[in-house]
Amino acid sequence: MSAVDLLAGIIAEGTKVSVASLQNPQIARSLLKHGLLRDAGVIGSVVCLDCDEPHAAPVVFDTGEYGYYCPINGFVSLAREEIVAVDVNLPSLINRLADAFGCRRRKSTPIHGNTWRVGAVHTDHGDVMIYFHPRLANEFDARDLMDALGREMASRWRLIITAQGRLPTTGATHVELYEITAFPENGEGLVSIVDLRKIMGVPESPKTGAPNRFGEKIMALIRSRIADGTALPGRNEEAKAVLTLIRQGPGPDFPTLTTVKGYVSKARAG
Ligand SMILES: [Zn+2]
Repeated sequence: MSAVDLLAGIIAEGTKVSVASLQNPQIARSLLKHGLLRDAGVIGSVVCLDCDEPHAAPVVFDTGEYGYYCPINGFVSLAREEIVAVDVNLPSLINRLADAFGCRRRKSTPIHGNTWRVGAVHTDHGDVMIYFHPRLANEFDARDLMDALGREMASRWRLIITAQGRLPTTGATHVELYEITAFPENGEGLVSIVDLRKIMGVPESPKTGAPNRFGEKIMALIRSRIADGTALPGRNEEAKAVLTLIRQGPGPDFPTLTTVKGYVSKARAG
């Protein structure tokens, strides 16, 4: 089980859990150290398995020790490490997610109900708005989310992160925590494992390289050399000659030889 899976499991649980019940207490300690989990005292109840009929019993602190009362066995004491509990530090998680994706316009409290705005990520085609909702498993969760999003500025790109579940919502992309983040063992904390623009389908930014900007100028030069007979017969040597001339002009951007060769072919074809 990965650290993110463990974290998501606790978020989905929606309550504090005992560290002893976790499959990997070492990961839990690491999550605690990074502030993603926090100490939550001791669990509220235990299940007694020591008598004929398993029963739940509240944890009590009696005459200096933790324990519970069993109708058969009376007071049964519990070691503190058996019942020490953790829960998710949501404000910290939201903050770490915002760090992982380099967000602006962050918000450290829920925008409404259980919906958090992680923040905005800039792209050439508008901001990607990232939101977090712990669970998205039923219509109540979905309504809570829609209520919250209704209070936010309209956005073309919305990413909804949940710990568990992804009921489709119109106009949004849904992912679970484990699909986009990891918690590497080297201790760097929560990191992004995706190209956000790619999973959102944001188009790649238009290229603004030299070939497009200087295309007309290069074509004019090549055509003038054909017209006045100075063009060299070989496509390759002509491209080299043209590039040499271009490089004598103002920079700082110059096309590559391949690009110039393309223009030579085009001029000769047309
Ligand atoms: Zn019992």
